[in-house]
Order: sequence, then structure tokens, then C-alpha cells
Amino acid sequence: MTTYFRIAIPTPLRRQFDYLIPANFHAKLPQVGVRVKVPFGRQTLVGILLEIVYETDVPVQKLKQVIEVLDEQPVFDDELLQLLRWCSLYYHHPIGEVMQNALPVKLRQGADTQIKGIRRWQITPEGEQVDIQTLKRAAKQIALLADLKQSPSGLLDSQLTEQHVGWRPVMKRLHEKAWVQSIEENALPIASPLSPAPTLNVDQKIAIDRIIYQQKEGNQFHAYVLEGVTGSGKTEVYLQVIQDIIKQGKQALVLVPEIGLTPQLLDRFLKRLDGRIAIMHSGLNDEERLQAWLNTQAGSADVIIGTRSAVFSPLLRPGIIIIDEEHDLSFKQQDGFRYSARDLAVKRARDLNIPIVLGSATPSLETLYNALQGRYETLLLPERAGNAKPPSIHLLDVRSQKMEQGISAQLLHKMKEHLERDSQVLLFLNRRGFAPVLMCHECGWHALCPRCDAHMTLHQSNSQLRCHHCGTEQYKPSACPACKCEDLLQIGFGTERIEHALTELFPQYQVIRIDRDSTRRKGSMQALLKEINNGKRQILIGTQMLAKGHHFPNVTLVAMLNADHGLYSSDFRASERMGQLILQVAGRAGREEKEGEVLIQTHHPDHPLFTPLLKHDYPGFAKTLIEERQQTELPPFTHLALLRAEAVDQQSPMIFLEQARLMLESVGHASQNESMLCDVILMGPFPALMERRAGRYRAQLLIQANNRKQLQSLFASSISQIENDKTAKKVRWSIDIDPQDLM
Ligand code: ADP
Ligand code: ZN
Ligand code: ZN
Repeated sequence: MTTYFRIAIPTPLRRQFDYLIPANFHAKLPQVGVRVKVPFGRQTLVGILLEIVYETDVPVQKLKQVIEVLDEQPVFDDELLQLLRWCSLYYHHPIGEVMQNALPVKLRQGADTQIKGIRRWQITPEGEQVDIQTLKRAAKQIALLADLKQSPSGLLDSQLTEQHVGWRPVMKRLHEKAWVQSIEENALPIASPLSPAPTLNVDQKIAIDRIIYQQKEGNQFHAYVLEGVTGSGKTEVYLQVIQDIIKQGKQALVLVPEIGLTPQLLDRFLKRLDGRIAIMHSGLNDEERLQAWLNTQAGSADVIIGTRSAVFSPLLRPGIIIIDEEHDLSFKQQDGFRYSARDLAVKRARDLNIPIVLGSATPSLETLYNALQGRYETLLLPERAGNAKPPSIHLLDVRSQKMEQGISAQLLHKMKEHLERDSQVLLFLNRRGFAPVLMCHECGWHALCPRCDAHMTLHQSNSQLRCHHCGTEQYKPSACPACKCEDLLQIGFGTERIEHALTELFPQYQVIRIDRDSTRRKGSMQALLKEINNGKRQILIGTQMLAKGHHFPNVTLVAMLNADHGLYSSDFRASERMGQLILQVAGRAGREEKEGEVLIQTHHPDHPLFTPLLKHDYPGFAKTLIEERQQTELPPFTHLALLRAEAVDQQSPMIFLEQARLMLESVGHASQNESMLCDVILMGPFPALMERRAGRYRAQLLIQANNRKQLQSLFASSISQIENDKTAKKVRWSIDIDPQDLM
């Protein structure tokens, strides 16, 4: 009997591959889930052993031999293997790519699984004694020393890079003075001395008791929606639940949005939890990430806290899964393997038979609907914790108002008031750059991206036009390329322009801008946040990066310069997102003793969607939207899949999708279940809203079904046909199951 290895290989082909066992293979057969090195075409790739089989459909002479088995112990245990297989089926994504996605980069490349020490920098007792005064002129040394002083567990290279630009020579100098030392040890940071917990309020107590009680009753799957207004103490609930889980000897997996994993949050976890914490996020370097993963796999971590892909963390003693800001879009991967970490977390909790907590001030409609259906249990935190009060929210009707650079006179007046009271003011605008459109006053020429159907955004600081869709950059022309006229108009407002305006309008105050441009350099985000919280800057202007999750105790006025784009968008999720954004942004105001105020500039003050938001009534807001979704038969009442295609020519994507449509239809008709197609609606193909992006034409076919099973079986029986059709060779195509973005 011949033995074959069935292997998942990272290629876009939707299948598994059979190989002959390695030459001279005398050892006992490996376990499934180990990595193997195999020849693939002209490459050598790292795959995952899925199965050992004794028959193959491939002619023996065509089979190649595995080069090497890389692991003794599997990198994926049975539970993860099963989850990943399920992912491949559910998202109709190639199994090899799914598996690869779940591994740290170094393991994908074949690195060994040896647990090693990771370098950390710590302050020495001598360093502790240093009188900062004597360092007066060495600002960088002072800053570094001060940070190390506050981090008893030490700082990783990646953390230093994140927070101190050019730290290495500075550290060298401190090291020469013996004020710091580097240690190499286990990758998990050592807990700092624990700080005390606040006294819980009644709602927090109920929430914690409920979760822990159920969990102790038999550790069963149970999904909770922790719906707590911003600042209501949700994180406190997580911390106390996790502490209990650690005490039981189990692990907690905590997923946070990409911009949610701030040093402040980590610090809070480290200072409050009596256990070892593994951190997984994109800020780590590959080695740190590998070590965090290996330690997790070995079971040394009690808490695993990470962004999206941490949902695939190996769990030896699973106890609970927590998702913070569950509505956040960053939980959905938007390219390649398009999974939803939130949905997978729920699925995983069910498989592991452990509880899951979905926390948010503004839960997604999908989650609220699940709660309405009785599948999830809702736990409410209706009030802010401690002494903080909810901010008042008002609309500013800016119709026919005199505007100063996008800011109304009323708002300017309010800003003055707050600033004079020594408070900070935060302005939110979801558009970076100086002006979104550059236009010729003489002939009407617009600066368009040569590769996209989109305007180039003007960036004043470096006199550039930049496309926010493909990254194309050009110098700003000094005259109109069409008519040579020099009168070029800068139309509309971005954060950069507002920053300029504010500097002129409020010369006595310091302005700070936080967006992707101002924080491009590593380390700048943390540095800027520090300047905000030590009071050096009074006026804050920024995009989502500034508006989500941060705790700015001294901000009392928050203003949204333009909230209208969500009111009349063609994206059916736009109003949900608008409401979530308004309340999240509003949540930055008045988080401590000082009361907060929120002002929203709008041209549509009578729009009914605003009414519940002004009263902080997110449930009421969501209820209206859920009813709307029901009437229009949109998710969560139906299920969507989006087939996308793109190519350098305009026709190929449409031709491919037409063909795909025919195949889906014929599979639907041929299936025994005659009713299958009645409940499935195919829409399109259509060109994408922005048809050309980065030089490629894009089109899409939308598939809507009344239940997931129909959608599943329809694709399951047609995907290989679609994949192998000759029209598919001329395009790049992808499937997006439960798409979040239909554009
Ligand atoms: P959320 O996660 O809901 O935004 P946090 O847990 O961050 O809320 O709490 C907001 C603030 O209130 C934090 O500064 C936190 O330390 C504080 N806080 C939380 N719970 C309490 C409590 N029971 N008593 C006093 N302060 C609390
Ligand atoms: Zn012109
Ligand atoms: Zn472009």
C-alpha cells in the first residue's frame, strides 16, 4: 500500500494536493497539521499536511515528493484545522491560502518553532536614581528614560520604534551610562504590580455575574452582547471577567479593532491582570510575533489580545472570547481571504463550547438582530461609569450660514467658550489632505487620477496631488494643464486645510492634526497622543484615527464638521455607519468630571435619523434601521455574496461575470431543490461604482439569498466550474461572502 500526503498549499487554486512521502522517510508518519516543504511548479513552498491517504486520483508518475517534514508537533491542532477547513468551505477560499493566513509570517516561510528569548529594555536601579534635571539638554534621553521608568516589564524593540523615533543611538548612550539594560527572555511581558479595581456599579456587577455564573454552570457556549454607552466601563467588565477566567486556569482571547490596540489599553491590561499576556498585532516585528504565537501555542499565555487575525490563535485551555467594538469594520478582512473575525469568533466559541462577549456602544445591526432573535443575550450598561455624564448632542443647521473655512460662526463661538475654560476641543472630519478637488476657474478642468475614476486630493504641505485610491502622486501644477490659466480653485475641505484655518483663527492656541498623513512616520501617533494628553495642544483636528477609542480626559467639545454623507449614500450600510460614527465621536467628549458637548454641522437638520442619536438612543436608531432592512430584504434578513472581477480591459470582467451568472443559474435550475433559485436573486453584473481603480476596470455580481444554506450550496456546486472557465483566465476575481463593502 502506498502512502500519500494530502497537503494544503498556498496557491489560488481551490484544491488540495497529493504528494509522495519524502525519500528516505523512515521515521513514523507525521501528525496532520505539521508543515511540509514541497516542490510546486518551479517553486518550493511550505504547506500543511491535511491527511494521510492511501489512494490518489493523480497518476503516480505525475506525483512529486515532499522535500521535508518541518515539524514534529503540528502547528495546528485538530480544532484549528477543523475551523480552517470550515473557513475554506464557507468563504469559498482556497484552503492553502486560508491556512497560510492563520500562521505568523515566519512560520509561513519555514522558520523553526523554537521558543526563544526576545529582547526587552529595562531601566536599572542606577537609572531610577538619575535626576532628570541633570539631563536638561538631552530631551531624547529624558523621554526614553521616563518611558522605561513607567514600564517595569520593559519595552520591546518594536514598541520603542513605535514610540521613539531614532531610539537606538539614544539607548546606546543610556546603556553606556549603565542606566538601562537589555534582557532576553520569554516573549510575554511580565505583569507590572497590579493596580486596584474601581468599585463596580450595579450594571457592571450584573453583567460580570451573569457571564461568570453561566460559564461556571458548565462552561457552555453562550453569546452576550455587552451594549454599553461610551465610557460606561465595558473594559472594566472584560478585565474582571478575564481575571476570573485566569483564576480558573483558563485562557481568554480578546480581539480589538486595529486602532483599538493602543499602548494605553495594553497598559491597562498589564496593570490589572494577574497572568501572562500575549500580544498579537501588526506593530510587532516578525520575530516578536512568532514568539508571541509560539508561547500562546505552548499554553504559556493566559490572555491573548490581538487584532483581526488573532482569531486564529492556538488555544490550549480556552475559557472565553471577548470582542471589543464588535461593530468595527477592521474585523472584516477586505482583500484576499475575506473573513469576518467577529463571525468566526462566534463560530469558534460555539465549537469550543465557551462563552463569547460582543462589546460595543453601537452594536452592528447583525448582532442586534441576533439578540432580538434570542440567539444572543443582551447585557446593558446604560450609564457612564464614575462621575462622568453623557455629553449633550446638538445639530448646527449650517444652511445659508456664513462659513469660515468649513466652520460655522456658531461653532467658532462655542470653540472659544470651551477653550477659554482651559478645555480641549476636538474636531472631526473624515477626509484627509487639503482639498478634495482642484479645478480650473477658467475652463472647468479637474485634477483626475490617471489610473482611477476619481479626483486627486490636493496635499498642500508638499504641493502634491495624491489619489487616495491607488496612491498615485503628482506635483501640483502651477497652471491649468488644459488652458494654461493660473487661477486654480481648491474646492472642499480636508483635515490639512482645517488645520491651517484653525492656526489662523486661534493663534493663541496650539493645533494638532491626527490622520494617516500626520502619523505616517512610525512613532508619531504615540508622540502626538502624548502631546494631547499632557495638555500641550488645545485644538485637535482629525479623522477616525482621532475619533475612536481614545480617552482624552480634558476634551469637552467635540464637533463633526460634516455628517451628511451618511444620509443619502447608495451604500445600504451608510446610515448604520453614520450613526455609529456620530456616537463614537461623541463618546470622546466629557469622559471625566467636566461635562461634554457635541455639535454636528449639517445641511439636513430635519432628517429623522438624527432624532434618536441626539438623545443617545442607539437602540431606537437601530430599530428603525432594522425595520428598514426587513422591508427592503437586506441583511441581516437576507444573505449576500459578491463576486468581483477586474482586468486592464473594460470587457473581460463583465464577460466573466456574465458567464458566472449563467453557471450559477444553471446549477440552480439543475439542483433537485427546484425552489433554490426562487429564493436566490442574482443582480448584475454591473460595473463597480468607481469602475476604474489603479488602472483596472472592475465589475461585480451580487447574489442575494434568503438563507445561508442556499448561498452555500449554490457556490459549492458551481465554484470549480467558474474557476475553470476560460473567461476566468483573463481577470482577477474573488468571492466575498457576507460583504461589508459593496462598492
Ligand atoms: P468603555 O470601555 O465602556 O469605554 P472604560 O472601561 O474604559 O469604558 O471606562 C471608562 C472610564 O471609567 C475609565 O477611566 C475607567 O477607569 C472608569 N471606570 C470604569 N468603571 C468604573 C467604576 N465602576 N467606577 C469608577 N470608574 C470606573
Ligand atoms: Zn483651464
Ligand atoms: Zn488613483
